[in-house]
Amino acid sequence: MEVISSTPEMKAWSAARLRDCRTIGFAPTMGYLHDGHVSLLRKARAENDAVVASIFVNPTQFGPNEDLSTYPRDPESDLSKCKEAAVDAVFMPNPTQIYGPDHQTFVEVTEVSKPLCGASRPGHFRGVATVVLKLFNIVKPTSAYFGMKDYQQLRVITTMVRDLDLEVNIVPCPTVREPDGLAMSSRNSYLSPEERKRALCLHEALMAAKALFEFGEKTAAKYLEAMEARIKATPGANPDYIKLTDPRTLEELETVHDGALAVLAVRIGKTRLIDNMVFERS
Ligand code: AMP
Repeated sequence: MEVISSTPEMKAWSAARLRDCRTIGFAPTMGYLHDGHVSLLRKARAENDAVVASIFVNPTQFGPNEDLSTYPRDPESDLSKCKEAAVDAVFMPNPTQIYGPDHQTFVEVTEVSKPLCGASRPGHFRGVATVVLKLFNIVKPTSAYFGMKDYQQLRVITTMVRDLDLEVNIVPCPTVREPDGLAMSSRNSYLSPEERKRALCLHEALMAAKALFEFGEKTAAKYLEAMEARIKATPGANPDYIKLTDPRTLEELETVHDGALAVLAVRIGKTRLIDNMVFERS
């Protein structure tokens, strides 16, 4: 496995693979890898000739009062997980490699970036879209793997790929959860043991909504009531948003249909966690 920190080297590595008409599967990450990240790498491994992971804590997607400086990092463990997943190259650039001193170009996906996390984290998806487009230009993947845990991010990326005619196949990957249902996240490491127990309320709220869907409930307000009740019953849990939306536009629904998305962001103490579930008739 090669560890590459320079942009020209990464470009040359990918160009050499593509010259042999090989496919490159790519999973961009911010590191502190867990089994959710590893599931992306394994899927990329199964579907491509070459696999690239990137590890880059992207400063432009963090707001001024967010956790950029404290974001968890463990490059040694990350590299051993990449090796185990048979990754061929890990791209680990410095922020100065990605953003030169005179960087002035950003990508904005206007509509799907607006609601949900876009409303509470202004500029977040502009930073995400910009870095992902840059990484696509450097790594030149044929397919790129993204987790459905960050559902809105996935919608932002697929919209950017469509609108800018990018030649990369976006592969959505299911959310990997802890045995008790908590969605895996690098930010779970911020939780104290007590908060870790409380964090389960996100998954419980989604399961309460799922039960309503299976019962045939159509009124979105009923789902919101059930989800809010579960969050409010948890000490130290403060909802940022709880919504039922159309999975494509992310616009709020009044009537829940097959394929509807329940999505929420909740602060557990100081840690902001997100989760979602798509309801589908089995
Ligand atoms: P991050 O390092 O948090 O930026 O995540 C990098 C990629 O891993 C994104 O595509 C995430 O959606 C994906 N990811 C993060 N957590 C999970 C999870 N629990 N299950 C599946 N994919 C995940």
